[in-house]
Amino acid sequence: MGDDLNARLRQLPAVHVLLNSPQGKALTVKYGHNLVAEAASCILEKWRKRLVSFPQEGPLVATPELLGLSREIAVYLEKLSTPHFQRVVNATGIILHTNLGRSVLCQQAREALERAASGYTNLEYILEEGSRGERYAHVEGLFQKLTGAESAIVVNNNAAGILLVLHTLAAGKEVIVSRGELVEIGGSFRIPEVLKLGGVKLVEVGTTNRTHLDDYREAINENTGLILKVHTSNYRVMGFTSSVNREELAKLAHEQELPFVEDLGSGALLDLSVYGLKDEPTIGEALKAGVDVISFSGDKLLGGPQAGVILGKADYLARMKKNHLMRALRIDKFTVAALEATLREYLRPDAVMQNIPIYAMLTASLAELKSKGEQIQAALAEYSEQVEITVQNTVAQMGGGSLPGQEIPSIGLAINFPRLSATETEEAFRTRVAVPVLGYILKDQFILDLRTLLPGDEEIIIEGIKQLIQETPQ
Ligand SMILES: *Cc1c(COP(=O)(O)O)cnc(C)c1O
Repeated sequence: MGDDLNARLRQLPAVHVLLNSPQGKALTVKYGHNLVAEAASCILEKWRKRLVSFPQEGPLVATPELLGLSREIAVYLEKLSTPHFQRVVNATGIILHTNLGRSVLCQQAREALERAASGYTNLEYILEEGSRGERYAHVEGLFQKLTGAESAIVVNNNAAGILLVLHTLAAGKEVIVSRGELVEIGGSFRIPEVLKLGGVKLVEVGTTNRTHLDDYREAINENTGLILKVHTSNYRVMGFTSSVNREELAKLAHEQELPFVEDLGSGALLDLSVYGLKDEPTIGEALKAGVDVISFSGDKLLGGPQAGVILGKADYLARMKKNHLMRALRIDKFTVAALEATLREYLRPDAVMQNIPIYAMLTASLAELKSKGEQIQAALAEYSEQVEITVQNTVAQMGGGSLPGQEIPSIGLAINFPRLSATETEEAFRTRVAVPVLGYILKDQFILDLRTLLPGDEEIIIEGIKQLIQETPQ
């Protein structure tokens, strides 16, 4: 038995033999000696373990042909050199999908990123004066112009923005929040937790469904630091509800000389009610209603890069700029580049709906989507035996905690491979095609929603389906 095992183990070649084979040499040219040697040792070790673990496995089934081993090494190296972070097709119908990176950037922002990446920049340098500047100065003027805000600061994300606001304006003091607004967003951002990190004491007022102005008034004392409103962007309490509007809260706060702060969440610059999406206050409206400081995300309804934008009264923001937390929360040059370019698009409101990808998706007509669907169907017509594709009405969403419960009519493709279940199809599109395509299962059907596709995604889907047809045993 032992002799048999040893004999089998001896059949495995030494690393240098593999490296000197024609296949090994070709791989070395492509990947370099060290990586190939490492891959070879790794594959050989795997085979050694296998021979030891299954000593009775057939008569020398493990006999490794040099060619077989080289192929394994090639696959290993291929995998090693494929980026782990990769492009996927979003066919989920959720436009701001947090797990898929929220906003896709506009063309101008993509070009600005390229410029920022490939050369030095005036990131913190005032060219006119030859002196040190602030990185968010590149966007402050644009925010002032677009929203009427006195001042602007940009930090890493909205969570960081809220943290900076609370810590600067109310550390060691009490912050009054309605119970109906103690929200959790995406599992990792809970208002009560962020308040704790900001060093402030949470004072909850009202009930989950109803909060009145007097509830706030009664909670104010000499320890109160500020009043916080949270835009409950990812859920909605229906039925018997009441909350206090911004104007009333602003009036109360200002009578008591307290800052009135709002976590606006999504931060839309444009009124989206014309597109059937209601209840999303614009940034300008919130400021006009008397909110002193607002904070919102850059990669939700703004359609820009991940960022936390803080806008509002200059004296409050001046204190934030001096807070040492700023250094820990600061944005990088790529954020500055992409954010500035995105904001510039808003200077031409007529072009925003076309140029900012999330708005192009939101405003695409059902007829356009349907024709996209039919185009994919037609391209695969000759495979009708192997895959059944039907165009269907679907429902898309803005996502990212924006505009909850507001359904966006959409068009999708139901994809049915006769030999695969909906679950298997979903998995195949995720793991077995060159560019992963993410859809969803509804009523036992695998659906690709067409509203969240980007130009060119149709071809990727067509190629993916062809690949699955070829590789699925018929
Ligand atoms: C999304 C959201 C946040 C978190 O924003 P990030 O930019 O992801 O940190 C906080 N508050 C509200 C109300 C939100 O909608």
